[in-house]
Amino acid sequence: MTYRCPVCGYEYAEESGDPREGFPAGTPWAGVPDDWACPDCGVREKIDFERV
Ligand SMILES: [Zn+2]
Repeated sequence: MTYRCPVCGYEYAEESGDPREGFPAGTPWAGVPDDWACPDCGVREKIDFERV
């Protein structure tokens, strides 16, 4: 599953995770903290992301 930031288009894919954010490949969306902010724009949080 992939989730996209509605503001900047950053995408979080569960299969690849985001190691620079501390989420290894395979980290499920449920494993991302609710208060995690988009690493690219910083103005949207997890709950604002849209499933792609
Ligand atoms: Zn963003």
